[in-house]
Amino acid sequence: MTVWLLGDQLNPTITPLESADHVLLIEAHAFAERHRYHPQKLTLVFSAMRHFRDELRDRGYEVTYLRAETFGDALDRYFEANPGDNLVGLHSPSHGADDRRRRLVEARDGTLTLVENDLFVTTREAFDAWAGEPDDESRTFRQEGWYRHVRRETGILMDDGDPVGGEWNYDDQNRETPPPEWSAPEVPRFEPDGITEEVQAFVADRYDDHWGDPEGFVWPVTRAEARHALEHFVSARLSEFGAYQDALLDDEWALSHSLLSAAINLGLLRPREVVDAAVDAYESGSAPLNSVEGFVRQIVGWREFMRHVYRRSMPDLATANQLDQTESLPPAYWNGDTDMQCLSKAVEHVHDRGYAHHIERLMVLSNFALLYGVDPAELNEWFHLGFVDAYHWVTTPNVVGMGSFGSDVLSSKPYASSANYIDKMSDHCASCPYAKSKTTGENACPFNTLYWDFLKRNEETLRGTGRMGLMYSHVDRKDDEEWDAIQERATELRERAVEGEL
Ligand code: FAD
Repeated sequence: MTVWLLGDQLNPTITPLESADHVLLIEAHAFAERHRYHPQKLTLVFSAMRHFRDELRDRGYEVTYLRAETFGDALDRYFEANPGDNLVGLHSPSHGADDRRRRLVEARDGTLTLVENDLFVTTREAFDAWAGEPDDESRTFRQEGWYRHVRRETGILMDDGDPVGGEWNYDDQNRETPPPEWSAPEVPRFEPDGITEEVQAFVADRYDDHWGDPEGFVWPVTRAEARHALEHFVSARLSEFGAYQDALLDDEWALSHSLLSAAINLGLLRPREVVDAAVDAYESGSAPLNSVEGFVRQIVGWREFMRHVYRRSMPDLATANQLDQTESLPPAYWNGDTDMQCLSKAVEHVHDRGYAHHIERLMVLSNFALLYGVDPAELNEWFHLGFVDAYHWVTTPNVVGMGSFGSDVLSSKPYASSANYIDKMSDHCASCPYAKSKTTGENACPFNTLYWDFLKRNEETLRGTGRMGLMYSHVDRKDDEEWDAIQERATELRERAVEGEL
């Protein structure tokens, strides 16, 4: 039996491999041009695939590894050598990918049988049984309910039917900013070996117009390296993960975040083993419950939820735009050239490593785009090409749903905030020329002006939306003079943003 695995299914313990002796892997080079992916993302995927090929061969599998322009070109070659072959694969979480692959194989007189993708903790059937059938639009559901359901079903952090410690959630302990003398534990670096260097040279040559720094590659490309990254996280970073997970610092790009998303999304790590490692740390007393619960929630709550919501909401989710936002991203998203310290740092992090942590993504990069009025699909494209962990199934619900409020499928209100939040959680505002407490006039922080402008512009849609009452009670307190000043400053900021002078 031949198993055709994709570049994000790189795990030697996936079920179909148990009964297979032959594996097909295709490195499709034109596919990598569909979006101008970050050079480090392309290096990561191609290098991880080549390392996986070698690992499978060491384990005794016969591996056909094809480098081609497209899947179609590679399959032409494959079926010429193996006419009528029956391939087995894992379902892809990305919309339409299964049908496309099946059509490509059938057009060459082969067959493709797809089985459950066991690189997730939960199955599609389990989610649909909990949430109701996808076409039942009367059902609404939220991540918190799903998270509790998964905890109960799996027994993760459960104690005789109750959540360990008595609470489902310890976020009230997870909103600290580190003291000034704190520095983050060193990030493990995985120095490029010969294979990675070869891929880096290929990527630099072929994709030389892609945005992002090709140098400074730190990501694990093998399962062994990914396991090392996990162990390092659990022993060095997990204990402070919870407390500092929402913080933003000028001189820290990683804080105590796990930096594991790229390895998990490639299949190098199973989400369940990552969760188990964190829970073991709690049980052995080396990490506190607020950190471990917070981390577990990200994986079995948010990550699994995003995957299922995406599956059920596509294709509409990709173009959802309930606020009718139509602006283009300002040039600062490409050159980081802005006096706004928070935005400039976040863009720099993405450019340099293809990574920014969750709060930079949500409360800086997508919050600013939301307030500014950027088309969610354009923002989605920026995230998709900018990040090493980006795949359509995970980027789209996070960017279009959570970050842009293009649809209310993920939250009942937008994640919109003024400078207040960033000031509370970061040290950025202290060195920023913009005045964090001003909304109008010279030097007023763009987050403030655009926040009120956003609420006003979207009043018709948002005023009646769940949990927006408090915000609109503040809107109602502003008089015409204040609104005129906000309007004037917003217009000026927009002009400057377009000119690249924000
Ligand atoms: P940690 O902070 O250490 O979190 C642990 C793990 O939890 C992550 O590795 C990830 O596997 C999982 N996780 C946490 N939150 C989410 C979430 N909302 N959705 C899915 N998984 C989650 N994640 C991606 O993997 N790919 C993306 O393209 C992506 N784009 C995002 C875009 C926006 C606008 C936002 C708000 C979030 C996005 N996320 C994405 C989710 C999250 O920000 C990243 O998974 C996380 O920052 C990765 O860094 P980390 O591994 O250090 O995570």
